[in-house]
Amino acid sequence: MAKTYKYDIPRILVTGGAGFLGSHLCERLVRDGNDVLCVDNFYTGRRTSVGHLLEDPMFELMRHDITFPLYVEADEIYNLACPASPVHYQHDPVQTTKTSVHGAINMLGLAKRIDAKIMQASTSEIYGDPDMHPQVEEYWGNVNAVGPRACYDEGKRCAETLFFDYHRQHKLRIKIARIFNTYGPRMHPNDGRVVSNFIMQALQGEPITVYGEGQQTRSFCYVSDLVDGFIRLMGSADKVTGPINLGNPDERTILDLAETIIRLTGSKSKIIFEDLPVDDPIQRCPDISKAKTALKWQPNVSLKDGLKETVAYFKWYIEHGSTTRDRSRTVSRLVSEIA
Ligand code: NAD
Ligand code: UDP
Repeated sequence: MAKTYKYDIPRILVTGGAGFLGSHLCERLVRDGNDVLCVDNFYTGRRTSVGHLLEDPMFELMRHDITFPLYVEADEIYNLACPASPVHYQHDPVQTTKTSVHGAINMLGLAKRIDAKIMQASTSEIYGDPDMHPQVEEYWGNVNAVGPRACYDEGKRCAETLFFDYHRQHKLRIKIARIFNTYGPRMHPNDGRVVSNFIMQALQGEPITVYGEGQQTRSFCYVSDLVDGFIRLMGSADKVTGPINLGNPDERTILDLAETIIRLTGSKSKIIFEDLPVDDPIQRCPDISKAKTALKWQPNVSLKDGLKETVAYFKWYIEHGSTTRDRSRTVSRLVSEIA
């Protein structure tokens, strides 16, 4: 039977909580009445991403690098800390591996000491450049151990190993989410990920940089759907450890995404083709049967609707910069203006 909470108001620790996914997760957890501790070293995250939560007594922000031990109390830990975009995680690859591996050891050690349930934000990169399509959780992957993506892929693979060893050896309650490409408001405008790049380029009338011939595929999940998957996974029975795929199986070519964003923004930008990065996976699409059965979860937001929200966010960002706190009214107006 699932354990109940130790504290009257559930205390939840979110590492990487000032990042893109983390800020949405913190927002949802605070809204649901939890006491949230957000821990971040601001490597890629920004204080402004959680600026709207800072006045809330149920929210606390702490600067800390999870490669060092942390001593706090919590019922549940969501371990999201790690740069996620290829540009950011390849910038300091040694730190990326340390964050995944030392960070996992520290957070698992914390979870063991305080008997907390812990969820790992793992990734579809576990599957590398997959030769099985769509990817099921049983597939072991096709990862280059020495390439430029390895600091992230192998770090995340090692973190999964550690989670399962703590589960087997110390009976820790673990959850592993294998997240597929997720997008939405508060993505970092310069992180080089495809959705943020294309939207920023389209809005600023710059060329849209499609790598390779744009025939590689990805499946894009809107952030609110993903956060809902996190909450369901954390709330599931103890026997549901994962790994479990969370993503949207609506698979698109990158060229198709570029054309869709040009249409939605009404941009005059032209598409240009640049070299495909080393080890760039050719196709990626989640099989989400497990999530459907075990969590009763599936994404609901269409690519068009999700992109409208995201375009509105980046329009606002270009107008106001990252420092303005209250953007809700401006963004609703901008969403309604997008076709
Ligand atoms: P992000 O870069 O926006 O957020 C990561 C956060 O972790 C940032 O706030 C950063 O400052 C923080 N961080 C990095 N190293 C840290 C450290 N050593 N100590 C404390 N904080 C640290 O990325 P995101 O898109 O929000 O991704 C969050 C998590 O989800 C990551 O673990 C990522 O690997 C995973 N993930 C994301 C996606 C996606 O499409 N967004 C896909 C697969 C997996
Ligand atoms: N990509 C692209 N143009 C860009 C940024 C990315 O064509 O300006 C491609 C990239 O080569 C990859 C896909 O878009 O095939 C997704 O890239 P992203 O960095 O968003 O995430 P990944 O899934 O590769 O981690």
